[in-house]
Amino acid sequence: MKCTRCRKETAEVELPSHNAAFCRECFEIFFLNQLRKAIKAFRMFRKSEKILVAVSGGKDSMSLWHALVSEGYNVTAMFINLGIEGFSDLAEEKVRSFAGKLSSGLIVIKLKEEGIPIPEVTRIIRRPACAICGKLKRYYFNKVAADNGFDAVATGHNLDDETSRLLSNILHWKLEYLEDQAPYLPEENVFKRKVKPFFRLTEFEIAAYAFFHGIDYVTEACPFSKDATFSFYKKQLNMIEYNSPGTKIDFYQGFLKTLRPIIRGKKQEKALSFCKQCGYPTIGDLCIACLLKERISLGSVKDQTSF
Ligand code: SF4
Ligand code: ZN
Repeated sequence: MKCTRCRKETAEVELPSHNAAFCRECFEIFFLNQLRKAIKAFRMFRKSEKILVAVSGGKDSMSLWHALVSEGYNVTAMFINLGIEGFSDLAEEKVRSFAGKLSSGLIVIKLKEEGIPIPEVTRIIRRPACAICGKLKRYYFNKVAADNGFDAVATGHNLDDETSRLLSNILHWKLEYLEDQAPYLPEENVFKRKVKPFFRLTEFEIAAYAFFHGIDYVTEACPFSKDATFSFYKKQLNMIEYNSPGTKIDFYQGFLKTLRPIIRGKKQEKALSFCKQCGYPTIGDLCIACLLKERISLGSVKDQTSF
């Protein structure tokens, strides 16, 4: 099959949702156009601003880091070593080596050194790893961004992540989560602007970009990934997309245009105070990181409700 854009080269990537099939060169143009459209439509950031890219070592975040650097943005990556044996150190190695290749800045936080590695926390607190992991990641990305004068935190969430989360939140009518679901969340208190420049791109498209650029990313799944809730919804949406190409982007864009404006501002804001240990905005006396550090040092499993 010939590329539907240049009509000369052989197509290497078929994209039924765009009614297109691209050769390698035209795919790159398509991919970067989707990224540029996303950044422009939501005014995510400018070239003069400092962007912190949250990097896990997986294909999405590594590709985002690569694409933003190649687009000339002022990017620093941040990696959190979760302290998961046989997984976290390997991911850190790949991220460090990629930072060298891109000549890009990198900040690494090690949860072991912080005294709260994920396996230890999960064992003591007896809560699903992903719930705690997500909160800790948010804490460190926000804190590092605020402490180091970054303008925005960018994550590699793609269209599959966004639509699976959306489907789950709609099926269970989690309005408080729906309100926070957007490719752009403005700065609030000390929380920096949060953006998802890959929200128009699918996992498949990002995997193709990573492959064409020879990005060496982590392919092993996190041993706790069975705790992740959205993979079931991803599978269902892939079946729908297969039968009706273009449904995912319509579903997500439709939500942003129709439902989100109606529910925005309805959420009851909880009164924020500041963590007595680290000064981070929180609800209650201690933030998630300081609370976990305290629990781990006490070896306590009491009062799990606050997590
Ligand atoms: Fe964290 Fe869960 Fe993702 Fe593993 S699968 S990195 S524990 S959120
Ligand atoms: Zn704290």
